[in-house]
Amino acid sequence: MHELSETTIRKSFVNCSKGEAKRLNLPTLREVKWEDQIFLSWLDHKSPLKGCLVVEHEGEVQAVLLQKAKAQSKAAQMCQFCMTLHPGSGISMYTAARPGESGRRGNTIGTYLCANLACTDYVLGKKKPVGIRQMEETLTLEEKIERTKSNALGFIARLKGES
Ligand SMILES: [Zn+2]
Repeated sequence: MHELSETTIRKSFVNCSKGEAKRLNLPTLREVKWEDQIFLSWLDHKSPLKGCLVVEHEGEVQAVLLQKAKAQSKAAQMCQFCMTLHPGSGISMYTAARPGESGRRGNTIGTYLCANLACTDYVLGKKKPVGIRQMEETLTLEEKIERTKSNALGFIARLKGES
């Protein structure tokens, strides 16, 4: 993805107030290896149950605030973005408030994701879940990257009620 500024990222949140977006703690952007990122995702180091996802697609940047469930998953699950299979300790249920009035009334959608939101690192093979075997897949790295990004975009579309 292209390098994004802090202002662009904070402006791009589709499902939280401007004030909330302003208060989120961002990663150190100048340390991000932008060209390697499928999307930018991180946990707020001061509120570790708050996760953020920033996806750039065809010049449009969209960001989503995610809430991580406190309870650890008991069973192994697959991340619904990068399709990495994790033992219960490596996966978390994340929920996102729907944009606008609906979200303020408490409507959310949820999905299982890598607990540390490090999908890019798993796809690129920089991280590997311990103690679990991955599905055998014939996809190329390029195709896996494409799939991961399109899963994240699909989640955002679903959140916004577009699909
Ligand atoms: Zn993942």
